Amino acid sequence: MANQVSPLGTTAAMTTTTAKTGTAAKATPATESAKTGSTESVAFRAALDVVRAVEPRIADAIGAELADQRESLKLIASENYASPAVLLAMGNWLSDKYAEGTVGRRFYAGCRNVDTVESIAAEHARELFGAAHAYVQPHSGIDANLVAFWAVLADRVESPALRRAGVRQVNELTDQDWAVLRRELGDQRMLGMSLDAGGHLTHGFRPNISGKMFDQRSYGTDPETGLLDYDEVRRIAREFRPLILMAGYSAYPRRVNFRLMREIADEVGATLLVDMAHFAGLVAGKVFAGDFDPVPYAQIVTTTTHKSLRGPRGGMVLCGPELADQVDRGCPMVLGGPLPHVMAGKAVALAEARRPEFAAYAGRVVENAVALAEGLSRRGARLVTGGTDNHLLLVDVSGYGLTGRQAEAALLDAGIVTNRNSVPRDPNGAWYTSGVRLGTPALTTRGLGVAEMDDVAGLLHTVLSAIRPGVGPDGAPSKARYVLDRAVAERVAGQAADLLADYPLYPVVDLG
Ligand SMILES: *Cc1c(COP(=O)(O)O)cnc(C)c1O
Repeated sequence: MANQVSPLGTTAAMTTTTAKTGTAAKATPATESAKTGSTESVAFRAALDVVRAVEPRIADAIGAELADQRESLKLIASENYASPAVLLAMGNWLSDKYAEGTVGRRFYAGCRNVDTVESIAAEHARELFGAAHAYVQPHSGIDANLVAFWAVLADRVESPALRRAGVRQVNELTDQDWAVLRRELGDQRMLGMSLDAGGHLTHGFRPNISGKMFDQRSYGTDPETGLLDYDEVRRIAREFRPLILMAGYSAYPRRVNFRLMREIADEVGATLLVDMAHFAGLVAGKVFAGDFDPVPYAQIVTTTTHKSLRGPRGGMVLCGPELADQVDRGCPMVLGGPLPHVMAGKAVALAEARRPEFAAYAGRVVENAVALAEGLSRRGARLVTGGTDNHLLLVDVSGYGLTGRQAEAALLDAGIVTNRNSVPRDPNGAWYTSGVRLGTPALTTRGLGVAEMDDVAGLLHTVLSAIRPGVGPDGAPSKARYVLDRAVAERVAGQAADLLADYPLYPVVDLG
């Protein structure tokens, strides 16, 4: 960490590293006093005072959230810590503006500043990812996927129908032609990764609107290796002939070869849609390059902006010129009015992600995940696919005789925040599960490195080995109850707190 600019503040890192041992020393008193007077501290304290004057309980909850985030060892693979600049870009009067439409073509007057914000965010996104077009309005990842689904449906189903009918827009269709088109739009096929292999609910699963819109089939992973089997994807695609081939995941611990996925899509006439919600930061940081960068290969790419990309909560769509007009119809097609304050946060985060420091960060995220995986394997933990080459790993906790739910709850008792997750062909289903998903984007932002990952692996293994499955009120084995010795939980929580104390979260922010 020596001389590294902290992403969590504008001043230099508050911890110093002795190169030999890799251990961090606490900030000196001189930097402590600099910190309390930092611009960020003044800004956040003043903002909270303004909130407190109206509803003190909300100001208290905001302050308490900072304390909770500081104290917890966060291994949730989909979370991160946005910089003070990103956070502050969102708390202002840009929020008050309605701006339906796109830059320069709004349905409301007075949007010149929103135009500035949106065009800067889109420009950063295009440059960062090398995309021809970027649409930065989606409010979340699910919304980005909805925009993408309807852009593809409009391009490949609606536009041809309009051409056949000799009209320019849907309002000109006869009632009969409209009824036929509506049925056609609702009768398209999507192929995506199965949920238990790491796919996402928005990739055509029935509880989500995508599953009600599309006739969906999924591809899994090889039962032996746990790896994606491209021949199997091709076989299913040839048989099923989907309109959309989805790639992307939220719990698959390996890279995906998007060149091969595009070959398969082309072979069956499908549009390749890559949802990089989880790993956008690794694409931005050029850790995923060549065949593993989806942008050159997919016709359309969706993402969140708040996971490994480390921006505000939100979504984004990237595409080539062919789909750009359809994507830009996202609002009002499926989105409410854009959130200009969040687009401002996206612009700031994307500017940060274009710096060399971000590429270094993305590299450390993967190094840390590999170190965490090695530390766990060495201690006897069973990992899906045997390891990782991205930012996440999946521990099969059945090896410890536990369900994911027992492991997740007991780890929380010891101050470690994770989430349970299905493993391939999970015998415990999607609620109890047999896995715990771990990710390194958040801890890497705090500054923890490879040496600390081994300590974290030790803490995880200590707790997982100490948990005993509990019994229900009827004495039968329970998938939810567990017993964890209080002394173990307290000792690990103390060790986790000690580890985190060396890597203060938002060191430049002191709420006093
Ligand atoms: C997180 C995630 C989403 C949804 O993002 P939200 O912002 O929560 O709507 C969509 N797809 C994938 C692959 C994800 O991991």
